Amino acid sequence: MGFTSLDGRHVVVTGGAGFLGSHLCTALLARGARVTAIDNLVTGSLDNVEDLVGRAGFTFVNYDVTHFLHVPGRVDAVLHFASPASPIDYLKLPIQTLKVGSLGTHNALGMAKEKGARFLLASTSEVYGDPQVHPQPETYWGHVNPIGPRGVYDEAKRFAEAMTYAYHRTHGIDVRVVRIFNCHGPRMRVEDGRAVPTFIGQALRGEPLTLHGGGAQTRSIVYVDDLVEGILGLLVSGYTEPVNLGNPVEVSIRELAELVLELADSRSELVDTERPIDDPQVRRPDITVARRELGWEPEVDLREGLARTIDWFRSQR
Ligand code: NAD
Repeated sequence: MGFTSLDGRHVVVTGGAGFLGSHLCTALLARGARVTAIDNLVTGSLDNVEDLVGRAGFTFVNYDVTHFLHVPGRVDAVLHFASPASPIDYLKLPIQTLKVGSLGTHNALGMAKEKGARFLLASTSEVYGDPQVHPQPETYWGHVNPIGPRGVYDEAKRFAEAMTYAYHRTHGIDVRVVRIFNCHGPRMRVEDGRAVPTFIGQALRGEPLTLHGGGAQTRSIVYVDDLVEGILGLLVSGYTEPVNLGNPVEVSIRELAELVLELADSRSELVDTERPIDDPQVRRPDITVARRELGWEPEVDLREGLARTIDWFRSQR
């Protein structure tokens, strides 16, 4: 059944104890939804949901979604966010990453079918690989090395999208697909290998900031609150094609590192390290579709967002 408001809805969030999943659970509860978070804690942590556990309307289930998935009672929406997401995680967990993108997506879609629920897939800008079209619109098919080390993540997500649209066409499942570009905010793990937490951790410890290959490659980084707003906007919209969500403002990794140094008031130096295999050279979302279909655009600029993320990392030390 269609819905345009989350009030009173029961939403299942796989990966609900992760960085994005836990922020989504909080935002869903704030909009009046009941939430069941399912997570096997392989890269997430109960710390991320400690303020939610015990709250009315929130249930946490420790479970691996690559196994048969069942939640009792009515379910209105399934948000499939379970997956290792940082390069360090998916390079360490290649087979689990492929399994959660394939079997996990299949199981989550199966539950949506059983319950007649809407299904939202957390896809990624990595489906565009090392892009040859810039910025990347949703119509771009991507440039991915299927057998390179990053292929385990990129291809898992590409398969997950294919599976989602197969269920949509074959079984009439109501689907949403969000292609998330780099995001940052509180609850990232300092050691997860992504540029923002790595630079903040190094700056706060007074260690050199490590730039891969000089840091000329670019990224577009959105603050988590903006992203969550966009994801929930997509969930309640009527739009079933993939949607890019990210910050269209592009910065080089070197500029990002310099901004972290300034905002963290750190005197660390910048040093060059080796570039990872298949590391994308550029990354910037074309958000025309999100603007048109969801009326969405990021509101927190990079400087403000980074200042908030740095404050949170400081508070955790
Ligand atoms: P995260 O690692 O913090 O969260 C992922 C969660 O999924 C973790 O809590 C982990 O324990 C859980 N999980 C993994 N495999 C599981 C399994 N088999 N069964 C149950 N739970 C499992 O990562 P994140 O940054 O919050 O990413 C969440 C989702 O968003 C991922 O699907 C990721 O691909 C996607 N995404 C994130 C970003 C970003 O910038 N954060 C960008 C693009 C896409």
